[in-house]
Amino acid sequence: MSDILHQIYNTSSFRENGHQLVDFLADYLENALKKEIPVNEFRNVEEQYLDWKNFKVDEDNTISFFKKLAEGSIHLHHPHYMGHQISPPAPVAALAGFFADLINNGMGVYEMGGPSTALEKIVIETLTKAMGYGEEASGFLTSGGTLANLTALLTARSQIKDRNIWVEGYNHNDLAILVSDQAHYCIDRAARILGLGEQGIIKVPTNESYGMDTTMLDDLLQSAEAKGKKILAIIGSACTTSTGSYDDLQAIGDFAHKHGLWFHVDGAHGGAAAFSSSYRYLVKGIEKADSIVIDGHKMMMTPSLITALLFKNGSLSFDTFRQNAQYLFEKELDREWHNLAKRTFECTKLMMSVKMYSILAVYGIKAWDEFVTRLYDNARMFSDLVDTTDEFELAIPPQSNIVCYRKTWQGFNREEHNLMNEAIRKKILIEGQFYIVQTTLNGTVFLRNTMMNPFTTLEDMKRLLIRINEICTELYGSN
Ligand SMILES: *Cc1c(COP(=O)(O)O)cnc(C)c1O
Repeated sequence: MSDILHQIYNTSSFRENGHQLVDFLADYLENALKKEIPVNEFRNVEEQYLDWKNFKVDEDNTISFFKKLAEGSIHLHHPHYMGHQISPPAPVAALAGFFADLINNGMGVYEMGGPSTALEKIVIETLTKAMGYGEEASGFLTSGGTLANLTALLTARSQIKDRNIWVEGYNHNDLAILVSDQAHYCIDRAARILGLGEQGIIKVPTNESYGMDTTMLDDLLQSAEAKGKKILAIIGSACTTSTGSYDDLQAIGDFAHKHGLWFHVDGAHGGAAAFSSSYRYLVKGIEKADSIVIDGHKMMMTPSLITALLFKNGSLSFDTFRQNAQYLFEKELDREWHNLAKRTFECTKLMMSVKMYSILAVYGIKAWDEFVTRLYDNARMFSDLVDTTDEFELAIPPQSNIVCYRKTWQGFNREEHNLMNEAIRKKILIEGQFYIVQTTLNGTVFLRNTMMNPFTTLEDMKRLLIRINEICTELYGSN
C-alpha cells in the first residue's frame, strides 16, 4: 500500500489535529459570542475565489486552514447575526456532527446504522408528540425542508384512489395544489417537479398580515373543480419566509377535512413553535395536518441539514416510493420503520438523528422551548423598538422571530425609499458589524431581521438602529 493512505488514516495526527481544532473552535465561539470579531468579513466573490485558488494548505499545520476558513465565514454565533434563518448550532450538536462524520453509518437500511436508526425513531416520537399527533403517527429525518416538502406531496399523490401515477406516469394534467402566495418557493418547485405545471399551482391570496386568506378557499376550490382540476393537497405555511406569518392552520385543517383534501403544513421554520409554552398558540390546529415539515437547522439549534417529515398516519409514508429494490430490502412490501430508505429520497443518509438527539438527551425538550421562546420574544422587543421611533416603520407586527421594517425619510417617495433601504442593507453587509437581509413586499423594500441568536440583547438592537441612522446621514445628510 502506498504511504499516502497510511498517512491519511494516521491516528496520531488525527488526535493532534482534532484537539487543536476543538481548542480553536472553542476560542472562536467565545470570540463570536463576545462580539470580539465582526459578524462577517465581506469580500466580493472574485477576490474570494482567487484567494482560495492560490491558497495552499500547510500539511504540517492543518489548523491554519481551518483558521483561515473561519475568518472568512459568516459567524452565526455572533449576537449581531440577524440575517437568514439558520441556527447557531448548539456545540453539543456540532460535536455529534463531528462524531457522525467519522462513524459515517449509511442509515438506508437498519443494519447500516442500528443505534442511529433507533435514535431517529426516538427523535421522531418526540416531535410527533409535540405536534399533538396520536399513536399512528410516524415519520423520518431527511435532507432539508425543500426535499421534505417534495416528499410529502409525493405521499399525498400516492393517496389518489382512482389511479397509480407511480406506475402509470402522469399525463392527465388535472392535479393542482392550493397554497398561499407567500409560501416558500420550494413548494412551487415541488409542484412543478410533480408535473403539475403553472396551472397546477393555485395561489390563495393573503390578508394584511400575509397569512392565507381562508375566506377565499371555497370559491377557489369551486372554480378549480369547474375547470376539471382535482386538488392534490392544500398547504399551510407555519410560518412564511418573508414576513414570518402563520397561516390559520385550524381553518385550513377544517376546510381540508370537509373536502377530503390532504393537508400539509410547511413548518420548516416555525413548526418548532409547538415546543414553546408561550407561542404554541401560533400552530393551533397543526395536529389536523396529514403531514408536517420541521427543520432542525432553523429553530432547533442543529447544524444543517436536518429536517423531520411527520405523518399523522405513519403507514401512509410507505406508499410514497413503492418500488423494487430487492438488493436492499428482503421484504419489499413490509412497512418496516427501521429500513429508512423505504420512505426517504436518500439511499445513503447522514446520521442526522445523532445531532438532534444530542440536544434532547443532554438538555431535554425544554431546550427547544427556551430557544424558540427567546427568539420570538426578541423579535417583539425589536419591533417595539422600531415602533417607538419616528424614523422607522414596521411592515407588520412580528408573529415569529422575523421582523420586516424600513427606514423612512421625509419627502421620499416609494422608489426613493426603496433605493435608500437597499443602500442601507448593502452598507451594513459590507461593514460587517451586523448581518441583516431585505425583502420586497408588494413593491416596497423592507429590511428584514431574523432574530436567530438567543444572545442578542436590546442594546445590540438599539445599536443596529443607531448605525442605520448614521448610514443615512452619511448618504443623505440630515433629514
Ligand atoms: C427554509 C424554508 C424552507 C426550505 O427548507 P430548507 O431546509 O432550506 O430546504 C421551506 N419552507 C419554509 C417555510 C422555510 O422557511
